[in-house]
Amino acid sequence: MSDDSRGCVFCGIVAGAIPSNKAYEDEEILAFYDINPQAPVHILIIPKAHIEEIADGDSALAGKCLAVAATLARELKLAQGFRIVANHGPAAGQTVPHLHFHLLAGRQLELTMG
Ligand code: AMP
Ligand code: ZN
Repeated sequence: MSDDSRGCVFCGIVAGAIPSNKAYEDEEILAFYDINPQAPVHILIIPKAHIEEIADGDSALAGKCLAVAATLARELKLAQGFRIVANHGPAAGQTVPHLHFHLLAGRQLELTMG
């Protein structure tokens, strides 16, 4: 884990220092409900490791995050539809520099790419 993990809110959640409402957890991945939900279902799926940017060696971990999102969508019966979003950088509105995927569902999501 890099020094950049110090002061990272998501690393604080992984460490248990910051409370969260967990939706899924294994050795590598944590999913928890977003504190400021943008839809009736808004879950963040993160690698437990402080990854800021997906590198070549991270593809399995990134893929596992997406598989967890799909599993949660099945468990939560989001058959009407769901959206997975990853913001990167200030122009995309990223506020937490720890790789995360938003799983959004439970309302009609606008047909926009941003
Ligand atoms: P992004 O804009 O893609 O960086 O998304 C960061 C997300 O993290 C936002 O949707 C925030 O509401 C969410 N967030 C920030 N702090 C917490 C927290 N302590 N618990 C749960 N979600 C959080
Ligand atoms: Zn972090």
